[in-house]
Formats: sequence, C-alpha cells, structure tokens
Amino acid sequence: MSTEIIFMFVAVFLLGTSIGSFLNVVSLRFGVSSFVTGSSECPKCKKGLRWIELIPVLSFIFLKGQCRGCGLKISWQYPLVEVATGVLFLLLFLFQKSAFQIDYLHQMISVDFILTTILLWISWSFLIVIFIYDLYHKIIPDRLVFLFTIFSLFIFATPLFIESEFLFQGSFVDIMAGPLMFFFFFFFWFISGGRWMGLGDAKLALGLGFLLGFVQGISALVLSFWIGAFIALLILLFIRLQVMFGVDKQLPEQQKRLTIKSEIPFAPFLILGALTAYFFSLDLMNLSILFGA
Ligand SMILES: [Zn+2]
Repeated sequence: MSTEIIFMFVAVFLLGTSIGSFLNVVSLRFGVSSFVTGSSECPKCKKGLRWIELIPVLSFIFLKGQCRGCGLKISWQYPLVEVATGVLFLLLFLFQKSAFQIDYLHQMISVDFILTTILLWISWSFLIVIFIYDLYHKIIPDRLVFLFTIFSLFIFATPLFIESEFLFQGSFVDIMAGPLMFFFFFFFWFISGGRWMGLGDAKLALGLGFLLGFVQGISALVLSFWIGAFIALLILLFIRLQVMFGVDKQLPEQQKRLTIKSEIPFAPFLILGALTAYFFSLDLMNLSILFGA
C-alpha cells in the first residue's frame, strides 16, 4: 500500500471520529435543547470546554475520563461512539468495490465515488443517532427517522439520475422492501396496540428497506429478531443469576422490575441487523433464488 492510500485511510477515520463527536452531542441534545450546536460545557460545573478538551478520543484519554473542573466522570459513550463512527466511515469507504482496485486514487476522485460515500456516511450517521437515542429514551424521533428515510431513498434513486456503477442498483423488488418491512412492523404495532412494537420501528424499517434493498433488508429484519431474542435471553439469565445469589435484594426497586416484559428498545437490534446484512452481503434463506434477483 502506498503512503497516499494509508494517509487517506487515516484521514477518513479521523473525519469519522469528529463526526462521531458531533453525533454524540446531537443524540444527547436532540429534543432537550433547542440548539444542537453551540459551545459545550460540563453539565455539572458549567465550565466551558476548551478546544483541547474537544479532540475525539484523545481528550477522553488525556482527561482520564473526568471533567478538569469538578472531576465529573465523562461517559464511556463519548469515545465509544467516536471510535465506532470512525471505523464505520472507513468501512463504508472501503466497501465500495473500487476500493480494492489498483487505480484506487484515480477512482476516488470520481464524482460517483465521492457522492456515494458521502450519502452513505450521512445515512449511517442518522442510524447512529437513532441507535443511541432509542437506547436512552425508548423512542425514535420522527424528524430523525424521516430524514434518514429521505436520504436512503435518495441513495436508491440516484443511479436513475447519474450513470453510477457504485451506487446500489435497485430493482422493482428492492423498492418494495421498504414498504413491506414497514407493514410488517405496522401489523405488530396495530394488533398489540403498540405494546410489542412502536410505530417508530415501522418507520425505521421503511428507510432500512430503501437503504438495503430486498434481500439484505429482509435478512436484516430476521437477524434483528435473532439478536433481540439473544439479548433478551441474556437479560433473563442475568436476572435469574441475581435471584439465585440473592443479589437482587440489594438492588433498587427499578432494576428489580426488569423482566422480559420491560420495554426493550428495538431500533438498536434493527440497526445491528442492518449493519451485519450490509457488510456481509447477507442473504438469509437464499431469498435471491426465489425472486430471481
Ligand atoms: Zn465539571
């Protein structure tokens, strides 16, 4: 690998960590503060953060995960999301098939490649924010999922406007994936009166269908239920062990009531399923044979 390519990879990773830093702020301030932008400060001592305290990942390490003013512990979420976004940006960049070709640098300056990569970065950035937000609030904000759906549809439709060899080559079956996945969740939402699934999951599934197409979309959906079931089993096992060892008596009331009936945010499972289906080009149950895709 030439020096230029390594430099490019590092630059993409660093860009990703910076965007990740921004996504952290968006996911925490969305709906709470009317302004997502604006200077950052410590939530406890209100000490303004200087530029040296705002460097992705490195600041967390230098500050040893504490506020310089009052020693308030900084959440592991910050460096974790920054690194995850950096890795995701790099993977999306590499995942375009041209990334492995010899005339790599030449290919990269093509409009196709740049446009594809930027659109994919934006779409997946929305998914990161939705992931974190749903984890904390157990709800998916309409505005975020709407924007995500628009961008995904845009990625889907772009090859119709420019001759692109990188962008997802969608067929009619693929455009149906979004609506199909939407109605799948809508059905569960409707018959359970919103107890099993939120309507937000249905809206998210619509965008994921547009982003992934039919085969990978359905694969992501199936996978999300597997991941969900696995995590639910882990939680049940954890509760069981706590009861066995009598640890549960020392727990606060809120934690004790955590059972399988507890509301579990589903968006993270859907997004993890989508991530796996996308990068491994998953084709569960070999659906492509059935539809001749
Ligand atoms: Zn502080």
